[in-house]
Amino acid sequence: MENKDWKEECAVVGVYNVTNAASMTYYSLFSMQHRGQEATGISSSNGEKIVTIKKKGLVTEVFDNESLSKLKGFSAIGHNRYSTAGEDSMADAQPIFARYDLGQVAIVHNGNLTNAKEIKQELIRDGAIFQSYMDTENLIHLIARAKQENLVDRIKEAILRLKGAFCFIILSRKKMFVIRDCNGFRPLSLGEIKNADGSVGYIVASETCAFDLVGAKYLRDVAPGEMLVFSQKGMQSYNIMPSNPYPCVFEYVYFARPDSHIYGNVVYNIRKAMGEELALENPIEADLVIPVPDSGVAAAIGYSQKSGIPFELGIIRNHYIGRTFIEPTQQIRELKVRLKLNPIKELIENKRIIVIDDSIVRGTTSKQIVKILRDCGAKEIHMKISSPPTISPCYYGVDTPDISELISARMSNKEVCEFIGADSLSFLSLEGLKRSVGLKDYKFCQACFDGKYIL
Ligand code: SF4
Repeated sequence: MENKDWKEECAVVGVYNVTNAASMTYYSLFSMQHRGQEATGISSSNGEKIVTIKKKGLVTEVFDNESLSKLKGFSAIGHNRYSTAGEDSMADAQPIFARYDLGQVAIVHNGNLTNAKEIKQELIRDGAIFQSYMDTENLIHLIARAKQENLVDRIKEAILRLKGAFCFIILSRKKMFVIRDCNGFRPLSLGEIKNADGSVGYIVASETCAFDLVGAKYLRDVAPGEMLVFSQKGMQSYNIMPSNPYPCVFEYVYFARPDSHIYGNVVYNIRKAMGEELALENPIEADLVIPVPDSGVAAAIGYSQKSGIPFELGIIRNHYIGRTFIEPTQQIRELKVRLKLNPIKELIENKRIIVIDDSIVRGTTSKQIVKILRDCGAKEIHMKISSPPTISPCYYGVDTPDISELISARMSNKEVCEFIGADSLSFLSLEGLKRSVGLKDYKFCQACFDGKYIL
C-alpha cells in the first residue's frame, strides 16, 4: 500500500528506572518512525520536575545532543505522531503536559477514543478549557477532576470513562503508568533493561523493534485491560477492566515492522504465510513474482516459495524522497509513483508478472503500478493482494479514507481489476487471512475487511 492511503497510528514508548531514559526513548522512537512522521516528542522526569520537548518533524530532525541533554532523569515517555483524531498542528503533538492539584503529568496516547466527543462536551459544559483537538486531552481533564485521593485511583477512575482504542503512558514526577484498553486494539509490549550498575529498568513500547535497538529483553505484552504502575518499589500490575482481546489484524498486514513481534508472532513470518496462502488460493502460471516494495516483499517471498515461481525485485523503491515534495500536476501525476517506485525494464519485458501488494485502498496507486509495468513491456500482469478487500474504515486509531473512497466498498473485484488495468486481480480470503495468523483461539479485529465493529 505504497500510497499510504491508510496512515499508521502513532507510536508510544515509556522508559522507567534507566540511567539515560531520554536517550533510550529517542532511539526507541527512531525505530518506530514508520508509525508516525508528523511530529515527535519526549517528556522526562528527574523526580523533581517533568521537562517536555516536542516539535513537528522526524525524530532525527527534532532531537540532537543539546535538546536531549535538557531531558534529564530516570524516566521518560515519547510519542511519534501521525494525525488521526485532531488536526495537523503543533498543539496536537505529544506528550501532553499538565499541572494539576497533585502535581505534574505528561501523557502519550496511541489509538482513538470512540466516546471522545461526548466526554469532551460534558467536560466543556463543566468548565474545562481544551488546548488541542486531541482525544488524549480528555484524559488529563478526567484525571484532574476525579474524586479519588491518589493518582493511581484517579487514573483508574478516569480510564473507566473511556471507550475505544487506547494505549496510554502517563508520567508523573516519580512514577510511570501504562494502560491498554480492554480489547487491546493497538499493540503494546513490555521489556526489561539491565543498567550498568546491575539494577533493572523497564521499557514499554508499541513495537518490539524498539527493544532490539536499545538492548532490552522482551518480557511479555501488556494485557488488554491491564494497568502497570512503575515506581521505586518496582512494577505492579492491576486488571482494571474485564479483558476482551480483539487486537488489530492490520498490524500483521501492513502497519508493524516485519522484525517486530506482535501478539506473540514475528510479523515477517505472518506476512510470508499470507503470501503462501495467496499462492494456494490463487494459483496462476507466470514467469516472475515481484513485490510492491516494501510492503509486499514478505508476502511475495511466501508466494514465490509456495508456487515455485521465481522471485525478483522488479520494482525498486527510492527511500530518500523525504516527507515533502512538490505535488505533481495533473499532467505528470504518474511522476508521483515514479518518484518512489521504478521498475527494472529488462526483468519485466515480455514476462508474465505476478505483482504482490498488501492491500488496495483507493486503487489509484495500483493503477499506476500496472501502467508502468505495461510500459516496460510486461506480457501479462496479475495483481495479487495479501489481504481481503478493504471495505470499511477504521474507528480504532487508524486514519482511513471515507468509505466512499474505498474502491472495494463500491466496486466488485472484476470492476476493480478493470479500473487498475491488470489482466487479473485476486485477494486473500478472510479464511486465508485467519489461517495465516493462526486465529484458532484468538479473536482479531478485522472490521476493515468485514464491516463488523465491536464498539
Ligand atoms: S478496523 Fe481494521 S485497521 Fe482498524 S483496528 Fe480493526 S483491523 Fe485494525
